[in-house]
Amino acid sequence: MTVEGKKKIAVVTGSSKGIGKAIVIAFANSKQYSGIITNGRNIDELQRVSDEIKSSGCDSIAIEADVSKENDCIRLIKDTIKHYDRIDVLVNNAGIQQDIPFAKTAIEDWYKIISVDLTGPFVCSREAVKQMQTQENPQGGCIINISSVHQQIPKPHYIPYATSKAGLEMMTKTMALELAKDNIRANIVAPGAIDTDMNIELRENKVELENVLKRIPLGRVASAEEVANVVEFLASDKASYVTGATFFVDGGMTLYPSFGISSEHDAERHTHW
Ligand code: NAP
Repeated sequence: MTVEGKKKIAVVTGSSKGIGKAIVIAFANSKQYSGIITNGRNIDELQRVSDEIKSSGCDSIAIEADVSKENDCIRLIKDTIKHYDRIDVLVNNAGIQQDIPFAKTAIEDWYKIISVDLTGPFVCSREAVKQMQTQENPQGGCIINISSVHQQIPKPHYIPYATSKAGLEMMTKTMALELAKDNIRANIVAPGAIDTDMNIELRENKVELENVLKRIPLGRVASAEEVANVVEFLASDKASYVTGATFFVDGGMTLYPSFGISSEHDAERHTHW
């Protein structure tokens, strides 16, 4: 709930399935929201998610919009304000990736991925911020960008994706600094390996799964709900003093797991000294 006890309005892009769907369901179940906008490019899938939200007692509207298009992003935010008069929380979650060797990455591939993963969050945030800067009771709002461990860990064959996520980190930190005066918080949730359609090969390819698990200290892939829990916290007033931060939800992937092995060796060596 907001400081005055009013419930919040949230927009979550890419919420027809996967992490985005888990986020809107977590928001609805938290009972802190009075309206949630679901978004994606398939209205039937979105409507099903919005119906599920409504069955838990929270209002929901499905808005079909392609976040790679500026006019769609503008319409998404405009329609939200038309329906609910405000936006408290924007989660830029929609994202795509593609396995292409660097030298074979066409300019169309580059723009396609950058447009969804970086330009979409920029335009949606810009439009939401115009509202957050002027709304009152309470003033401000909160933006959460769903990045990836690949804002930090290079990912061969995924250069537009990793570049977008690294860009998203700097965009978020700079927004946090510029917009703190308006009581707008901006943070990042950076998942590791999560069981969604984006990671379909981990369900289907045991060898690939084993390779990925070697890089995860907690030794398992996470559910979308485990990411949504962190987003729910960051969007809540319990995180009222958190801005400009990245929360990795990665089972320790960014701890450089291979160094764990060398420190064990170091420990063995120490016993001989
Ligand atoms: P997912 O299961 O593939 O779902 C992606 C969602 O985004 C869908 O709702 C999809 O719906 C929507 N979407 C795709 N392109 C869109 C567009 N142009 N405009 C509007 N919506 C669009 O993916 P996910 O695994 O949940 O990933 C969600 C976010 O987490 C992404 O930003 C991803 O980079 C990040 N992430 C995921 C993982 C992972 O392991 N899964 C790891 C790190 C980071 P439509 O296709 O119907 O539009």
